[in-house]
Amino acid sequence: GEGAEKCIIFPRYIRVNTLREKKLDAVDTLRTMFRKQSEDSVAPFIYADAHVPNLLVLPPTASSWLHHDCEYVKNGMIVLQDKSSCFAALALVHGLGEGTIDDKKVRFDYVDACAAPGNKTSHLAALIQSSIGNINQSTKKKDGKMTEPNSTVYAFERSSSRFNILQERLKQLIPSLPDDCTKVAVVPVHADFLNADPLDPKFGDVRAILLDPSCSGSGIVNSPDRWMEDVHDNKDAKRIQSLSNFQLVALKHAMSFPNVDRIVYSTCSVHDEENEAVVAKALSEVEKSEDGNDWELMAPVCLEQWPRRGREGGIGGLTKSQADCLIRCDGLDGDETNGFFVSFMVRKK
Ligand code: SAM
Repeated sequence: GEGAEKCIIFPRYIRVNTLREKKLDAVDTLRTMFRKQSEDSVAPFIYADAHVPNLLVLPPTASSWLHHDCEYVKNGMIVLQDKSSCFAALALVHGLGEGTIDDKKVRFDYVDACAAPGNKTSHLAALIQSSIGNINQSTKKKDGKMTEPNSTVYAFERSSSRFNILQERLKQLIPSLPDDCTKVAVVPVHADFLNADPLDPKFGDVRAILLDPSCSGSGIVNSPDRWMEDVHDNKDAKRIQSLSNFQLVALKHAMSFPNVDRIVYSTCSVHDEENEAVVAKALSEVEKSEDGNDWELMAPVCLEQWPRRGREGGIGGLTKSQADCLIRCDGLDGDETNGFFVSFMVRKK
């Protein structure tokens, strides 16, 4: 049928959960796993992704046993996560370049505002863990003890059923007993992020927020929504407008946390209404407000090599240099990922 004609074939992606799987060569580990499952034909075609560390690319045909219930997913060793969806946590932790968090030597907490099922939360935790790991070496005291601060990630989820899924996934992915190597704690919070009080002392050390809110999902390549050609069909236009309104409120709420100076806002939507337009409005509305909030877009250093950028002009009205800070992914135009949008905002000093 028509759907089948439009079905796009992609590589599969596996993110190695470095919080559990500490072996150095993930590609070798994966090859061994495949050999054990007698998929020798796939093993030679596994390679490391060019943009995301610890992400492996597999041929589209892999694999009959590689699904959300397989042993390696359940024991938290790997996460089946699209490449584009890995850009969000990466941009938040390494957007200003490697090691910038470490320099501050202050407590550095995070909020994941819309967390379930927790793929980005666990990726965030893994990246924080390894970036703190880096300072271990440089800040080791003479007696061998570490001086670096710990980090907490508050992972908000509003929906009860999705909060349960989040908790289950975090149990699989994050070692429960912090040992000497576990410097990051993830605290799931069953609450509406919009009700989180930015002045609550608990969030006083929150310096970075990942906001990946509910969206139309129109970027998910093999979903029927993707083929919704006319967004301005009344019902869809209404739905997208109401999502866009919520996204804007959530982004402005993130910007109101006094000690937060970096935010990643991402969606798996291809619509400007949910992407550039939300970012543009948030930037201009907080600029006009009286609380001194002043934010700007920045191109994440860690994704400098990614060619596809945001849209200038249009309903967002962003300038070319603003749009060039944004990351877009388009699976229908050769990116081999779902459609995705990532923006990285920093508070002006
Ligand atoms: N970041 C997740 C990941 O990568 O695994 C996917 C997040 S999904 C796009 C959006 C989630 O946000 C949904 O689970 C939804 O229930 C939740 N959500 C929506 N509005 C929220 C709010 N106001 N506060 C907290 N969670 C919310």
